[in-house]
Amino acid sequence: MSITIMEVAQAKGIKEDKHGGYNAQQFFDLGLPFFAGCQGCGATLGPDGAYPSKTGYIRCKGCICDEIGFKTYADMQAWEKQIAEKEKIRLSAMTEEWFENMPNWAPQRTAEEIAARKAVILQRIADGTITFEDQVTWDDEKGNSNE
Ligand SMILES: [Zn+2]
Repeated sequence: MSITIMEVAQAKGIKEDKHGGYNAQQFFDLGLPFFAGCQGCGATLGPDGAYPSKTGYIRCKGCICDEIGFKTYADMQAWEKQIAEKEKIRLSAMTEEWFENMPNWAPQRTAEEIAARKAVILQRIADGTITFEDQVTWDDEKGNSNE
């Protein structure tokens, strides 16, 4: 048996609104969909009929199975953590490659500057506070482009 989006919302602490139900905003605030389409058959699903899956998409009761659904919210969190770790490894590898090539297109930067910037970026990836798209600027301030 797999958990539904409603069960995930409850595990995340959703409370009934003043009408004794739940509204879409409450789900969005928890980072969850209120309506979703089934990845398998395209059916439109509300929170009670939507099952999060290891494909990264929502499935309906008929299209989910124990293999790709989550038994508990803790299982889902463990899986999400695993995915996040894999993403960090991927981003770190891309970063290494990117900085390796930097002397070719930013010859004004010294090896020390490049190494220092790379260390900052790798630390942010480890902390989960940056995405690969964020690192294309040399400076932290928004609006600065590649030099
Ligand atoms: Zn389906």
